[in-house]
Order: sequence, then C-alpha cells, then structure tokens
Amino acid sequence: MRSMILDRFCEKVAQIVQTEGAACFALGAADNRLHPQAVVGLDDDSSIEDLDQVDIDDSGPFSSAVSEALADQKPVMLSDAVTISRVEVPPPVMVMPIVWEREALEPDEEPVKRPVGVLALWGKRGGAAYDEDDYKLASTLSNQAAALLVEEQLEEFEDIQAAFATVPVGLMLISKENAVTVSNAAATQVVQVDPLTGRSVSDIDYRGQLSRLMEDLHASESGNATIAFIAVDNETYTTSAQLTQDGQAILAFTQSPFSTSAEELTGQVAHELRTPLTVIQGNLQTIEIMLEGDLQAEDAEIVREFTGTALVQSQRMYRLIDETLNISRIHAGKELELDIAEFDLMDAVDQIMAELGDRLLGHNVVVEAPESFMIDGDQGKLVSIFDNYLKNASKYADPGTTIWVRVYEPEPGLVAMEVQDEGIGIPPDALGRIGNEAGFRTELSKKQAGGIGLGMVYTRRVTEAHGGQMEILSEVGKGSIFRSVIPTSQPGA
Ligand code: ADP
Repeated sequence: MRSMILDRFCEKVAQIVQTEGAACFALGAADNRLHPQAVVGLDDDSSIEDLDQVDIDDSGPFSSAVSEALADQKPVMLSDAVTISRVEVPPPVMVMPIVWEREALEPDEEPVKRPVGVLALWGKRGGAAYDEDDYKLASTLSNQAAALLVEEQLEEFEDIQAAFATVPVGLMLISKENAVTVSNAAATQVVQVDPLTGRSVSDIDYRGQLSRLMEDLHASESGNATIAFIAVDNETYTTSAQLTQDGQAILAFTQSPFSTSAEELTGQVAHELRTPLTVIQGNLQTIEIMLEGDLQAEDAEIVREFTGTALVQSQRMYRLIDETLNISRIHAGKELELDIAEFDLMDAVDQIMAELGDRLLGHNVVVEAPESFMIDGDQGKLVSIFDNYLKNASKYADPGTTIWVRVYEPEPGLVAMEVQDEGIGIPPDALGRIGNEAGFRTELSKKQAGGIGLGMVYTRRVTEAHGGQMEILSEVGKGSIFRSVIPTSQPGA
C-alpha cells in the first residue's frame, strides 16, 4: 500500500539525517514479511513498485540485518552496498527498527512494545559512517514512523469496521408457533437470554417490543417490518423482521445508526486529537535532538519548518477541543456563543489548508477565491466549517479526484463558503436529514468510511448562529457541494 504521508515522512528523514534515500516498511503481523510503504531517493527508473516484500527469514544481508534490528530493537549498520528487495542501494546502510510503544491503559495491563516496521536509510552524504547523532535522530524519527504506521492501520481498520456496520449482528429464526428455532451468538448477546433456542418470543422479549414487531410483520403486506429495539442494556438496535415462504420469520438486529454512544464519540475525538499531537511531539523531539548537536546553517530551515508545523497543529488541537465542547453544549440544548471580530476569511482558508495538509495530499485541491475577503464572524468556528466540509470531501471522495474550495459573494452583503467533491454523493431523501439529525449517516457513506454524524450538525449550527444558511447539493455517484452562506457583517460587531 502506498502512503503519501509516509512518503513525505521519508523525504524528511533523508533530509534530516542527510542520506541519499530512505524507505519505510511495515511488518506484517501475520506473515513476518516487510511490506514497502514509502521510499525516496531511488534512481529515476525505480519507484516503490520495484520494491518487493521482504521475507525477513531470508539469508540475504538486508534480511539478516532486519531480523537482528528487530530482535535487539537496535539499529544495524551495513558498510557495503546491499540489495533491498531487488533494488541495490549504496552504503552505508542503517536499518532502524520501528517499535510502537504505548503506556498501559489499565493498571493490570503491560505497556505495549511491538515492532511494527523498519526504516532503512542509505548513502550518507559525504560517504561518512553514521555517528551517534544520526542514531539518535533516526531513532526519534522511527518513533514518529511508528505512530504514523499505527495510525494508517487504524484508519484501514475503521474502513473495515464501516463496511461491516451494516451487517446484521444478531440473527434468529422464529417458527410459526412464535418460538426461536435457530439463533447466533450475537443474537444471544442482544437480548441477553441464553440459551435462546426453544424459547417463545414473549419469553425473550423486553417491554413487548418484539411482540409488537411480530404483529407488525404479520399485518404488513410486504412481509417485512422494522423497529428500533432498545435492549436491556440500553443499546439501540435496528431490528428488521422478514417473513419466509413457509411462514417463519427471520429477525436481524443491527447496531442502530441513530445511537451515537459515548464510547464511539470519545473514540472518534481521541483519534482526531492524536493525529496533530503525533506531529507536535515528533517535531519537538527532533528539534530537541538537533539542538543538542552543532546546528548547521541548513538545519535552521528544518527547525523553522518543524516549529511552524507544531504551532499549526497545536492550534488545530485547541480548535478540535473547542468543537467537541461546543457539540456537547448543543446536545445539552444550549445556544452557541460566538466570539465576533473582523478578520480575513482567506486567512481561515489558509489556516485549514495548513492544518489538514497531509490529509489532502491524495486529492487534487483547487482553491477558487479572492486574495482577501474581510468579514465579521467567529474565526475559529468558521474555520471548523471548512474543516468539516473538507474532511468529509476527502473521506467520501476517492483519492485522485478533485476537491474545490470556494469563497465568493453570491450577492452583496453575503459570503459563500463552499466545498465541492466528486465523491459518492447523497440520495435526495437524505439531504434534509444531514446536519439536522444528530448521528444520521447515509448507507452509502457507511460503506465508504467511518464517522459519527455530528460534524454537519455543528456546521449547520455555526452557520445559523451567524445568521446564515447551510445548503447541500448532491447527486449519487457524481459528487456533492456543501455551502454555508452567511452575512458579511454581524450586528453589534
Ligand atoms: P460523519 O462524516 O462523521 O459521519 P458528518 O456530520 O460530517 O458526520 O456527516 C453526516 C453524514 O452526511 C455522513 O455520515 C455522510 O452520510 C453524509 N456526508 C457528509 N459529507 C458528505 C460528502 N461530502 N459526500 C457524501 N456524503 C456526505
């Protein structure tokens, strides 16, 4: 799998440690092979596609160095040219294990320390050997790589979870006599009755919900019926019943999309916050080590760039935390408070492009906007509008497609903030629910990516708090336009 973020990362590593090239491999937990993720500095005719997976049990010098580095969790140096999965790279070569470390979350849990990949560096500029500083830098950078690799795996995992979100979790077959004849383990968990088989519907029911569903089913012409079933443990399941040819009923329980459990919310928030924090921490650690050595003139540029990114990302964290607090205020029925000031809306656009940076690398982003556009508004909250529109565009449109960001004046006194994508689109009957129903997600989007259906509720509220309107135009399979139109000046500003 190819990763833009890791590509950029490898570029940075090669620049900082001053090598000709760098490659990042993920260690497959199941097959004990190295899977190439990103590479820089190969000659012009070679690319990551030329890198094969590496079997670390092979006898070649690179494989041996990798097994040694992983076993000792220490870097291994090679002073001859080596072949890294078919491509020959110049010496000296450093093989640095990428180890993911995490504190124990529970008191009785062990801290996690797990090798997740390998960073390979080759061709130190000037042909010199690597020194102590290079080891330190490479090992700090490999910690960053660990976070990035685990992050990518988590994202993949979320996509898989999203794909399974619509699969029934619990299934049971009910006979004509209203008894359970077949059931799966998940169904047992949902209704919390064990064993299920042989019981009557009234036996396993909770507050008469299933009996009502069965009545609906037999009364329906189409031979199916659906209810929201609230289980003993307060979880909500969408429960559908379908009549079979011979008069039996199949019941399917799926986790209801309408219940945004606290756990899901905190999970998502924590995940969102970790990304900027990883960047901040990694950048600061790298700077710290660089400051310990003798700073060269060219190092100053890297330090400046790293501090700049750390600042942008800490600003982002601050805003995300604010957004989360505001969403919980909305939940509690409170009004949004605005902090109105005059500012340049284009600064807000620049800010969000800098914050999202790596996340948008896979898409072709086109900004169509004036140089400057002064308005009154709550800058942080208006940045959040772009943030949510852009994050969704990148989630719900495939990499390689175009995303347009537009700022314009639809009529005097109004400003439109707009993001258009070429993604999966939204069915007409769902348009009115997005941003109005907390937790609402289209079935299409659940197959595409993870999410919790709160971002659009927030953008709608922020837009309306500014006296504006949120508009969505979309066509399934073609793409969507999300637009907030607000007055350029605010009363009392
Ligand atoms: P989340 O993306 O976390 O689920 P949002 O509140 O941001 O929550 O969006 C709500 C829903 O609106 C999404 O789950 C998706 O169904 C739909 N949606 C939002 N943006 C887009 C888009 N650009 N393309 C297609 N569907 C979208």
